[in-house]
Amino acid sequence: MAMKIIVDECLKCGACVAVCPRESITEQTDDSGETIYVIDANICTECVDEGGPQCQEECPVPECIVKAE
Ligand code: SF4
Ligand code: SF4
Repeated sequence: MAMKIIVDECLKCGACVAVCPRESITEQTDDSGETIYVIDANICTECVDEGGPQCQEECPVPECIVKAE
């Protein structure tokens, strides 16, 4: 179980990084040199112990952070 960030929706504001209790969101660089934010599905717990995805609550863009398949 994990959340994921839809790259095309992301404003790259970085707000989600600060609120993740598991430090599972990192800033990375894609193949074309663009900054992207990525959730590590192996670490993300969907914040089951925090009452729901904290990153999703903090993100200013609706539908930017969604459940991973
Ligand atoms: S759902 Fe929680 S653990 Fe997963 S990336 Fe978002 S803030 Fe981090
Ligand atoms: S809070 Fe939302 S818009 Fe901002 S970097 Fe994270 S995923 Fe992107």
